[in-house]
Amino acid sequence: MTTYKHSIIIAIDGPAGSGKSTTARLVAERLGFIYVDTGAMYRAVTLAWLREGKPDIEVFLRNLPDISLSRDPQTHRQMTLLEGVDVTDQIRTSEVTEQVSYISSLKTVREKMVSLQRNIGTDHNVVMDGRDIGTAVFPKADLKVFMIADIQKRASRRLEEMKSKSKHHVPSLDELIQQMKERDTYDSSREIDPLKMADDAMLLDTSELTIEDQATIIIEKAKPIIIKHSHGA
Ligand code: C5P
Repeated sequence: MTTYKHSIIIAIDGPAGSGKSTTARLVAERLGFIYVDTGAMYRAVTLAWLREGKPDIEVFLRNLPDISLSRDPQTHRQMTLLEGVDVTDQIRTSEVTEQVSYISSLKTVREKMVSLQRNIGTDHNVVMDGRDIGTAVFPKADLKVFMIADIQKRASRRLEEMKSKSKHHVPSLDELIQQMKERDTYDSSREIDPLKMADDAMLLDTSELTIEDQATIIIEKAKPIIIKHSHGA
């Protein structure tokens, strides 16, 4: 990987299913950056809470589980580890999806995850996707993109993805639309670091765009920034 004087941060935020993760992964791959899916980290904390049998939240927060990220040696994809054990697949169940907005609204959880995310961005050029990357995690990110898309499109894309990948129960399109709306409302209205577009972010409506289009738009925006960094700016 090319190293630059300072690490470069590309922050991609937006509601559920707006195409963030697929696009962010592709952009990172093409630029030789590390891709970080921060939603997976909140999902792993949620999985831990569920596995412990939903203990009293105050008790759970006193001793938060250890979450870390790794790379699959073959595919180079992000692996999410809970107490050192790979839970990349287990964090995608509907049980986790139903509870993740609640767990991620908790101050102690956010503080711990944000600190982990900042550490990753200190040493590496990253494309990081989430809900608050451009507003709270890296308010000085080099490039901020806020991705949105029509809810029907978002839900049908997510359904296709789930059908192709999931070993778990796949909901109907209507169920998925309902779940996404609820999650977006919860994420946008929480007190701490809600889902919100940063003032200096570029708005990207992906309703009519392909993944390839989205990646190209972001890479074109990133190019001058990378050139500037390589000249030590
Ligand atoms: O990206 P994904 O849909 O997997 O995120 C799952 C959930 O994690 C979101 O609905 C949100 O509640 C939470 N999240 C967050 N902040 C982030 C990333 C995800 O609160 N940076």
